[in-house]
Amino acid sequence: MKGFLLTSEPMWRHTTFLVGGPADLYAVPADEKDLRALFAAAHRNDMEIFILGGGSNLLVADSGFRGLVIDTRHFDDYDVEGKNLILGAGLSVSDAAWRAGTAGLAGLDFLFGMPGTVGGAVWMNARCYDAEIADIIVWVDVMDRDGKISRIPMNREEWAYKRSPFQSTAGGRLTILRAAFAMNSDEPDRLRSAMRKNRDDRVSKGHYKAPCAGSAFKNNRAFGAPSGVLIDRCGLKGFRIGGAAVSSWHGNIFINDGNAAAGDIRRLLKEVGLRVEESTGFRMESEILMVGDWNNE
Ligand SMILES: Cc1cc2nc3c(=O)[nH]c(=O)nc-3n(C[C@H](O)[C@H](O)[C@H](O)COP(=O)(O)OP(=O)(O)OC[C@H]3O[C@@H](n4cnc5c(N)ncnc54)[C@H](O)[C@@H]3O)c2cc1C
Repeated sequence: MKGFLLTSEPMWRHTTFLVGGPADLYAVPADEKDLRALFAAAHRNDMEIFILGGGSNLLVADSGFRGLVIDTRHFDDYDVEGKNLILGAGLSVSDAAWRAGTAGLAGLDFLFGMPGTVGGAVWMNARCYDAEIADIIVWVDVMDRDGKISRIPMNREEWAYKRSPFQSTAGGRLTILRAAFAMNSDEPDRLRSAMRKNRDDRVSKGHYKAPCAGSAFKNNRAFGAPSGVLIDRCGLKGFRIGGAAVSSWHGNIFINDGNAAAGDIRRLLKEVGLRVEESTGFRMESEILMVGDWNNE
C-alpha cells in the first residue's frame, strides 16, 4: 500500500466535535488501488468499515470504532470537463468552491465556509442558503466493496432534504471517489464576494465559535419553526450535560464546551429531543450521525 495505516488512532483527531475514542485501524489510502486492497483485507478479516470525510457531521463513541476507518483525503483530483466540474471526494468542499469561483465557475459557491469534504457533502446532500448538492450533481464515480468502479448518473428524484441515494442500504456500501457538478459561468469577483458574505453570515451565527457538528437536528417544515427556534422556545439555549452544551447563541448548535465526552453530547441530544417533544409534541430527528461502538454508553 502506498498510503498508510495506523492502529488505535483516536477519532477525536478527525472530527469537528473533537471527541471520539480509538479506531482499531485507520487507513489513509493513496489511490484506488490502495482502497481496493483495503476492502479485500477487511473482507478477509470480517471487519466493519467506516468511510470518513471531514468528520464534520459525526459523533464517534468514546469507546471508538471496532473496525477499519478509511480516510478519503487523498482522493483530491480537480478537473473541468466542458461545463462539468469534477471533484475528488476527499477535497474540502469549501476550498473547491473557492477555487472554482476564482476561475469564474458558479454553482458550488453556496457551500463556501461549510466544513467537510466533497464526498461527505454528496453523501449528506448538504444544503444551505436555499441550495443543495442535488441541484447541481451530474454523476458520481463509486467503488463497491468488491473493488469495482462505476459511474452513476444522478437522478433528481432519488434525492430529498438531507437525503442522497448513498444512504440507502444498497448505496451505503458504495464509496464515493469523485463527483461531477454542473456549473455556470460568472464573474470571479462577484462569486468571491457572495462567498465571503455567506462565510461572514456563518461567523455571525457562531458556527466556528466552538467544536460542533453543525445543526444538531434536521428542520421539519411541518413543525412550523426551525428546530433551533423550538429548542430556544423551550428555554434550552445554554442547557448542558457534562461538557456538552446547547450553545448560548443558537438553539440548534450543540457544542463541546471544552472537555465533553461523546456520551455527554449523545445524552444532551436525547434530553433536548425529549423536552422539545414533551413541550411541543414534535419529535425532531438528529442530523448528527452516531458512529462506533455505543453498547457500553
Ligand atoms: C460549523 C459547521 C457548519 C455546518 N453547516 C452545514 C450546513 O450549512 N449545511 C449542511 O448540510 N451541513 C452542515 N454541516 C454539517 C457537515 O459539515 C456536512 O454534513 C458535511 O457535508 C459533512 O461532510 P464530511 O466530509 O465532514 O462528512 P463526514 O462527517 O466525515 O461523514 C458524513 C457521512 O458521509 C459519509 N461519507 C463521507 N465521505 C464519503 C465518501 N467518499 N464515500 C461514501 N461515504 C462518505 C460518511 O461515511 C458518513 O456517513 C456543518 C458542520 C459544521 C461543523
